[in-house]
Amino acid sequence: MNRSVIEADLCKGCRVCVNSCPNHCLSIGSEINRLGYQYARSTPEKCTACGICFYVCPEPGAITVYKGEAPDVK
Ligand code: SF4
Ligand code: SF4
Repeated sequence: MNRSVIEADLCKGCRVCVNSCPNHCLSIGSEINRLGYQYARSTPEKCTACGICFYVCPEPGAITVYKGEAPDVK
């Protein structure tokens, strides 16, 4: 399954990815990361691995997009 994976502790909760995903796969959760930000979460059922979230995210390494089988992640 295609999916985007958020590295929680690298996310600053800016919502750029949330607002950019054409398939509404991303949201900001209520949990706080080590930087003190509410971070993005992925619900990948409709992810097409288009990569838009990866390209718009200003935080290097915060988002990885997998096309096809992704490794096991939470
Ligand atoms: S890769 Fe595309 S469809 Fe998947 S979460 Fe990112 S923006 Fe949305
Ligand atoms: S664009 Fe990057 S830093 Fe901003 S909420 Fe999404 S994952 Fe976090």
